[in-house]
Amino acid sequence: MSNFFDMKLHKSIAVATILATASSAMANALDPSNPSGTVVDRFADIEVLRYVVPGFENLSLNQKKLIYYLTEAALQGRDILWDQNGRYNLPLRQLLEEVYTGYTGDKNNPEYKAFLKYLKQVEFGNGVHHHYSMDKFVPGFSRDWFAGEASRVAAKHPERFNDDSLQTLYRLIFDPQFNAKRVNQAAGEDLIQTSACNFYEGVTQPEVEAYYTALKDTTDLTPVSYGLNARVVKRPDGKVTEQVYRLGGYYSEAIEKIVANLEKAKKYAESPEQAAVIEELIKFYRTGDLRLFDSYSILWTEDTDSQVDFINGFIESYGDPLGMTGSWESIVNFRDEKASARTKTLAANAQWFEDHSPVDPRFRKPEVKGVSAKVINAAILAGDAYPATPIGINLPNANWIRAAHGSKSVTIENITRAYDDASHGDGFNEEFVIDAPTRELLDKYLFITDNLHTDLHECLGHGSGRLLPGVDPDALKAHGSTLEETRADLFALYYLADPKLIELGLLDNPDAYKAEYYKYMLNGLMTQLMRIEPGKDVEEAHMRNRKLIAEWAMEHGKTDNVVEMVNIDGKTFVKINDYNRLRELFGELLSEIQRIKSEGDYAAGEELVEKYAVKIDPALHKEVLDRYAHLDIAPYKGFVNPVYYGVDAQGNPTADEEKIADIRVEYTEDYLPQMLRYSRDYSPLTK
Ligand code: ZN
Repeated sequence: MSNFFDMKLHKSIAVATILATASSAMANALDPSNPSGTVVDRFADIEVLRYVVPGFENLSLNQKKLIYYLTEAALQGRDILWDQNGRYNLPLRQLLEEVYTGYTGDKNNPEYKAFLKYLKQVEFGNGVHHHYSMDKFVPGFSRDWFAGEASRVAAKHPERFNDDSLQTLYRLIFDPQFNAKRVNQAAGEDLIQTSACNFYEGVTQPEVEAYYTALKDTTDLTPVSYGLNARVVKRPDGKVTEQVYRLGGYYSEAIEKIVANLEKAKKYAESPEQAAVIEELIKFYRTGDLRLFDSYSILWTEDTDSQVDFINGFIESYGDPLGMTGSWESIVNFRDEKASARTKTLAANAQWFEDHSPVDPRFRKPEVKGVSAKVINAAILAGDAYPATPIGINLPNANWIRAAHGSKSVTIENITRAYDDASHGDGFNEEFVIDAPTRELLDKYLFITDNLHTDLHECLGHGSGRLLPGVDPDALKAHGSTLEETRADLFALYYLADPKLIELGLLDNPDAYKAEYYKYMLNGLMTQLMRIEPGKDVEEAHMRNRKLIAEWAMEHGKTDNVVEMVNIDGKTFVKINDYNRLRELFGELLSEIQRIKSEGDYAAGEELVEKYAVKIDPALHKEVLDRYAHLDIAPYKGFVNPVYYGVDAQGNPTADEEKIADIRVEYTEDYLPQMLRYSRDYSPLTK
C-alpha cells in the first residue's frame, strides 16, 4: 500500500480557477450587512476572507444546538492537526503567541513587523510549513531579536521552555535544512525520513511498508484503512509498532473533549439514524477500532435525510507521504435546499452520464450506485479544513464502501460564494484573458460553469468508471492521486459542453461552457504557475492534473491549431481556436486515463505525468510571476469562522445547556484574535 488512494475528498478542485479571479474586495468591506468575501487580513501570499452562513437563523432550535455542539467538537481537534503537521508545532505556537501577547516594544520595529507576518503564516499553516507548498516559512526577523523576546517568555514560563527546547525551536525557525518540508514526494528518496510531518518516528519507509504489508490481509474484500488513525514508531527494542489515536491512546486529551461534545450533539440529532451515526463515531474514538470507523462511514453515507451534517475525524491522507494516516479535520454544515436542486438533477441522471461517457464500455459502471449529491453551507471549518478549505467534498474514501454503499458528494456554496464576492475588479482578467469578448464570457458564465464543473467532478467524475477484475486499486501508486483528479476533471470538462446540461435546465446558453474551458486552459497552461517558486516543479496533485490536461490537449490539437499560445505586445496569451475540437480532445484523454486506471497501467500513467504535468518552461514561468506580481493578488485564500454562542430566554449569552434558548452567529472576529482565542479555549494538548 503506497501513496495516495483514488477518490479522495479533495481540496479545492476548482479553487485555483476561482482564485484566479479573486481579489481584494475592499468594496465589500464597506457593506457590513453582507460580509461575505470581506477581506479580514492580508499577509505574505495569503488573504483571509469572511464567509457567512445563510439560512442559519431559519433552522430549528434543536438543529442550531446540534450545530453548536458539533462546532465545539470541531474546534477541540485543532491541536491534533498541529501536532500531526510537525512535532514541534505546538510548542512553537505557544512561544510565538506568548511573544506576541507579551510584546511591549515598538510595533513599528521592522523586526516586530516581520515577526507578526511570520506568526500569521504559522497560524495559517497550522504549523511551521506552508499549507500548500509544504515548505517551511522563512523568518524575516533576526535570531538575536527573537532570542531576546523568547528569553523573556521562558523566564515567565520556565515549566514550558528551557534552554534545550528553545534551541530546538530556534533551529526550527532559523535553520532552513531542519524539518525543511512537511510532505516530501520526490521520487527516489526515503519519503518518511525526508518529511517533517509527525506520523512516524524513528522508522524508515521500507520498515513502515513492511509493517503494513505484514498487517494487510489481501484476501479481505472489505479492508480497513490501515494506518488511518495511527502513528508508527520504533520501540527501544527495535520493533515497529503503532500508536493509535483514541481515547486513552495517542491524542487522548483532545479526543476526550471531542467525544464530550459529540455526546451533547447526539441529544439534538435530527433522527435516530443520525444519532446512530454520532454514536458510532464516538465508539470509534473510544476504541480506535478501524472496523468501527468503516461502520460509522457506512451509517454516515446512508444518512442522506438529515439537513445538518458533519465530518469529524482522521479523513484525508495528503499530509502523509505514504498516503495512509488521516489528518484530523472537521466541517459542520447543513443543506442548502434550494441550491441542492442542481446536484440532485445531476445525481438523478448519473446513469445517463455513465452510459454516454467516451470511455471503453468495459470500463463503465453498469450500475452507478447512490451518488448522493447536495449543496451545503459550512457552519464551521476546523483542523485540516481551516483556514484554507475545500470547496467540494466527496467521502468516504474507502473504495469498498464507495462501491457497496455509494458516497456523499457536496459543494460548499457559501465558500464558493465568498470567493466570488471577493473577486471583482482586481485586474486579473484584463492582464491574462486574451480579449474583451472572452472576458465578457467569463464575467457572465464562469461562476455557474465553475460550480457545475465542481458538481460534475464531485458527484459524477470520481464515482464513474470501474477497474477490471483483479486490478489493484493502488496500482498507479504515487501517480494515483494526480491521475484520479485528472479523470474527474476530464469527466466534468467533457460533459460541461454537452447539450444534456441545457436539456436538464442547468445551463441556458450552449456557449456557456466556453467560459470554463478558457479559464481551465489558461490556468493549466499559465496562471496556476503563479503559485510555484521559480525553479521548482509542479508537485501538488491537482496542479499536476490541470497541467497534464491542458498541455496534453494543446499538443494533441496542434495539427488542427485547436489551442495556441500567442504573443501580443510581448505578452503570452492562451488562444482557443476550436472549442468543439477541444471538447473531443478532452473526451479522448478521458478515455485513455480511464483505461490506465481500469487496467492499472502504471507505466502509461507515469509517462503522461512525467511528460505533461511536472516540468515548467522557465521563461513562461518568469513571465507569469512578473505579470502576476504586478497585480498584487494573494495567491492563497483562507477564512475566519463565524462565532457561535448560546443565549438564554432574555437574550443574554449563556453556556448553560439547559438555559440555551437560541444560538447566535456573529461575523465580527478578526483573524489573529480568532487564532489566539482558539489557542486559549481549545487547546487540550498544550495545557
Ligand atoms: Zn477530485
